[in-house]
Amino acid sequence: MENLCCLRCNREIEAGQKSVAIYMFAQTVGVRPRQKSSAQRICFCPQCSVSLAMGPPPEGALNIAAWQMIRDLVSADPALNEAAWENLRGVVGLLPATGTDGGSRRTAGYFEF
Ligand SMILES: [Zn+2]
Repeated sequence: MENLCCLRCNREIEAGQKSVAIYMFAQTVGVRPRQKSSAQRICFCPQCSVSLAMGPPPEGALNIAAWQMIRDLVSADPALNEAAWENLRGVVGLLPATGTDGGSRRTAGYFEF
């Protein structure tokens, strides 16, 4: 399965990673032969899902339909909120300690010149 990106923040979502997927396809009604478009898969990472659900309704009928579906998921169970929280803590943990890197590099520069 190919890796997808969050539609909102472009973060890469690996297969099996926690996310929200919206599947969309179009189909003719009352027309023969019946036509069906290919299905599109739109992904949102947990942070964006929670952020969108907590935020005001977007503009556009399709956007509002998707927003309501995401709100359903986010409000149904705290699991998605917890996933967003875990990701947020992971990002904070990856940031370098303030000043440590710059300080050692500046010292090296001082001795060289
Ligand atoms: Zn995102």
